[in-house]
Amino acid sequence: MLFANDTEDTLQSIAALVNTLVNTLVNDEDQLTTRADLDEFVRRQEYTGSRTHDDVELQAVRALRPDLRKLWTVSESEAVQIVNQLLADADAVPQLVKHDHWDWHLHATRPADPLQTRMEVEAAMAMVDVIRAKELNRLRICAAEDCHAVVVDLSRNRSKRYCDTGNCANRAHVAAYRARKAGKSA
Ligand SMILES: [Zn+2]
Ligand SMILES: [Zn+2]
Repeated sequence: MLFANDTEDTLQSIAALVNTLVNTLVNDEDQLTTRADLDEFVRRQEYTGSRTHDDVELQAVRALRPDLRKLWTVSESEAVQIVNQLLADADAVPQLVKHDHWDWHLHATRPADPLQTRMEVEAAMAMVDVIRAKELNRLRICAAEDCHAVVVDLSRNRSKRYCDTGNCANRAHVAAYRARKAGKSA
């Protein structure tokens, strides 16, 4: 394990959220457009705490995506700025908590805070770990041509290059195989 469990889970959840955006190779339409989409996302990613289940909540969560995506592309110093701003804006107070089936982990918001606030503060707290460990380069964009999906590389040997959302690794292998074959016959 590279980071604490809650950090790794959060990074995967945030990547999944960002990857609901339109991406020509992965989704040809936005995957988070209805309240039912958000319910399903929250259920799958096991977010706890209060919900309003209205359009305000949906739009607020949708609006987080471009900002959170930036964490995959900015420099370390820019990431630090984003994270510190998020934590300051939310008056984040880190607390160790235990709930449901999870062992001790950090919450820096209250369960009654809006879903979007809890999501972005959780993302910021995970980034605190990533940045302190000098591991920001584990957050990258999928290596497949034309794929803009974000990737969290938690592999021991830093070998993960393609997103989980599409067939990018397969496509790349097929392309490499064809290129080798073409090279041999030439
Ligand atoms: Zn929790
Ligand atoms: Zn991809």
